[in-house]
Amino acid sequence: MKSYLSHLICSKCHEKFDHRELQTFCTSCNKPLLAIYDLEKVKSELARDIFSGREPNLWRYRELLPVLDERHIITLGEGFTPLIKLQPQMGLDNIWVKDDSQIPTGSFKARGLAMAVSKAHELGVSKVAIPTAGNAGGALAAYAIRAGMECFIFMPKDVPNINYLESKLTGAHVTLVDGIISDCGKIVAEKKEEMGWFDVSTLKEPYRIEGKKTMGLEIAEQFDWQLPDVIIYPTGGGTGLIGMWKAFGELKELGWISGDLPRMISVQSTGCDPITQAFEGGKMESEFFENAETVAAGIRVPKAFGDALILQALKESCGLAVSVSDEEILASLSELAQKEGMVVCPEGAATYSALKLLKEKGDVNRSDKIVLFNTGSGLKYPEVLSQIIN
Ligand SMILES: *Cc1c(COP(=O)(O)O)cnc(C)c1O
Ligand SMILES: [Zn+2]
Repeated sequence: MKSYLSHLICSKCHEKFDHRELQTFCTSCNKPLLAIYDLEKVKSELARDIFSGREPNLWRYRELLPVLDERHIITLGEGFTPLIKLQPQMGLDNIWVKDDSQIPTGSFKARGLAMAVSKAHELGVSKVAIPTAGNAGGALAAYAIRAGMECFIFMPKDVPNINYLESKLTGAHVTLVDGIISDCGKIVAEKKEEMGWFDVSTLKEPYRIEGKKTMGLEIAEQFDWQLPDVIIYPTGGGTGLIGMWKAFGELKELGWISGDLPRMISVQSTGCDPITQAFEGGKMESEFFENAETVAAGIRVPKAFGDALILQALKESCGLAVSVSDEEILASLSELAQKEGMVVCPEGAATYSALKLLKEKGDVNRSDKIVLFNTGSGLKYPEVLSQIIN
């Protein structure tokens, strides 16, 4: 098994970058870099059924992932999470939940950070830093410590307490910041050079998105290479949405899937919805969202570094961006618990609220195959659960 990684390109100016060196983002236009694989060669040398007998984790897609030498893989067994079918409801027969609550560190951030840390480890990095809304900090801490790296985490002081505890417990250096993720990001950007930190902020290095890409690869394989009609995703920095869209593009180029690609639906909270606002305004970049506040901490991102890529994926997929209120999110969380026995995270609950909205507006049909993303475990949010019960 080997990686078919070929090089990196800037998502805006398409300048080429060497993947054998440590890269961040495009130095001319400050936009994210994307990993490019030699898909012609993959196509001629491999078939899509090679994956089926492999270990049930995201590393089964090794050839389409960026780590060159498998000895550099830092893993806790992340990925290949189940797709769980919901009971028919709302006049819809074919609703599925991709359940990333069942992943190390309790959120899908583990996918991206397992990949980014493994690749950084391969390229000799020894100190990593991250601004985080919470879950990315916990995930980075786990993989960085496992890789023997020193880890510096900046999180809002009102972060879900478990994110602070899990990060501290691994021995990461954790700073609580009086502000939100964008304020944390500024601190990392200012200090990184002097401190010798490698910044693993969303899309400021090219490989977290490759980890999130595996969600798209898994959905394809698990549905026997017949993609769903609609995917609903809770958007913060957007790596998952961009990553899945990238995965579908690669699979299409490989000829491993056929037919229409899914419509990608982004959901945010009305308490922080810069992507929805940009989408509705027909813009290809978002504005900074002031005073962001929502129970869905993971999507409290007032300005995504990859906003143009998110909006582009929505447009290319004939998708939509919608917003739902925190009240609707809490109602969905308890409804899914009571109907399906699933204690999802608030971000995951938002996708269910979004589905209701789409159904009301006639944007989905009875037989559509719909995938909701549960991006983490509700068990990481005891404060939110108490809010519902009391
Ligand atoms: C970070 C996060 C999100 C948003 O993911 P992005 O890749 O930043 O869009 C959604 N849900 C949870 C639970 C998260 O931690
Ligand atoms: Zn560029």
